Amino acid sequence: MPARYILALDQGTTSSRAILFDRAGAIIASAQRELTQHYPQPGWVEHDANEIWSGQWAVVEQVLAEAGARASDIAAIGITNQRETVVVWDRETSQPIHRAIVWQCRRTAAHCDRIRQDGFERVLRANTGLVADAYFSSTKIVWLLENVPGARDLAARGRLACGTVDSWLVWKLTQGRVHATDVSNASRTQLLSLRSLTWDDEILRYFSIPRSLLPELKPSSGILGETDLLGGHAIPIAGVAGDQQASLFGQRCFIPGAAKNTYGTGCFLLMNTGDHFAVSPPGLLSTVAWQRRGAATYALEGSVFIAGAAVQWLRDELGLIATAHESEEAARSVPDNGGVYFVPALTGLGAPYWNPHARGAILGLTRGSNRNHLIRAALESMAYQTRDVTDCMAQVSGFHPTDLRVDGGAARNDFLLQFQADILGIPIERAPLAECTALGAALLAGLAVGFWKENEIVSSEFASGSDRARQRRFEPLMEPARREELWSGWRRAVAQVLFRGD
Ligand code: ADP
Repeated sequence: MPARYILALDQGTTSSRAILFDRAGAIIASAQRELTQHYPQPGWVEHDANEIWSGQWAVVEQVLAEAGARASDIAAIGITNQRETVVVWDRETSQPIHRAIVWQCRRTAAHCDRIRQDGFERVLRANTGLVADAYFSSTKIVWLLENVPGARDLAARGRLACGTVDSWLVWKLTQGRVHATDVSNASRTQLLSLRSLTWDDEILRYFSIPRSLLPELKPSSGILGETDLLGGHAIPIAGVAGDQQASLFGQRCFIPGAAKNTYGTGCFLLMNTGDHFAVSPPGLLSTVAWQRRGAATYALEGSVFIAGAAVQWLRDELGLIATAHESEEAARSVPDNGGVYFVPALTGLGAPYWNPHARGAILGLTRGSNRNHLIRAALESMAYQTRDVTDCMAQVSGFHPTDLRVDGGAARNDFLLQFQADILGIPIERAPLAECTALGAALLAGLAVGFWKENEIVSSEFASGSDRARQRRFEPLMEPARREELWSGWRRAVAQVLFRGD
């Protein structure tokens, strides 16, 4: 019997998921496990790479058991993952030499200041499409090489391997046979030349990162290895993409100009810009969307670091809510924000400000402010930050979206999406499928092994059966004058945070 499913691994910042998709693009089973966040110092964020793997593998086993599926039922595996986060491990023992440094981690902010002072940011922008910011993998790798005792020496002897989370998962899935990454993930390391899609020697020299550390570069759709961890039947790993690029693919933003916004830990707005790499305009990033059938597609990206994580912070650090879901009811229980703005610069500010030193602030408090205003302000901050990005995209690229496709954990929140439509003044289109990121990885893998054909996956019927109730269009309802009043309040709040951060 031919294999019935594609297995997607979605290794996110806060959790790992495994999802089985059938031929209609419907979810057959899914499993999820939270991932421990480590904050060793203010502004630092780490993950235990062994926990990343064990948690990811546990959900694979769980999902197969739930669906009663065996290895022979799986046509291919697709991987999508939190981007930029780096793992460095010993090739001989497969043990990480340190916890993974997470994309949100700001420990290399001072290093990035020095890069700007050196004038090297110009080269980074021109070659990699990225700005000098602690967000990207390059300075995180340098930090590991310089701060883990013996690491430079081991690296010089070729003992160490380095990679983003996809590389680490592929290494573990293939039991150390394959050390590879796809170009969409590689484009976030700040070590990839976006024009030639090869590791950039000038940048490697500048950072003193030995090439021997780096994984082999592969297309996003195509077989890059096989796993036999599920028993005798080897399963091809046939699709790999960073989470935001996978979601762009899963939302089927295949034509230039098509854009999506994902509301997860952070908020990521990506627009397909076609097969031509253009140096990123100020405030935004250029990135590889995917590479398949020998051709690369590029995207323009606005990355916001803290979106749903602000809600998580209210839950975990302030204890204002017990679940993220409760935030919706709390926000609706007050007629407006009561003048309260929350600028969640908890890990600096990303697009379009790129200020690593900015720190979060809650502004506009009065005696009448209460818990619900603060919760509402956290949700509203996602919408304001998205507008910061769309305004920037409009300014620099002349791109004015007429609507926006959205997904991600926090896109479950109807209050948020209505407010987003109001603040942008355009309709917001929520996909019927919550798991666009996982679907994207599944599609990249499924297309590579012929499980799906191109024309099947673009049909509106495809992957639409999962959750009809979820699919919804939010029309802007707010009076333009009110919109601009709220918006100028946000602009004032951000200006204060930027001022303090400098
Ligand atoms: P990631 O893939 O980045 O780990 P997800 O897409 O799973 O993130 O989204 C999880 C994030 O969304 C968390 O930060 C959580 O606080 C937020 N979130 C989840 N549900 C809601 C909700 N109903 N309202 C607001 N935020 C939510």
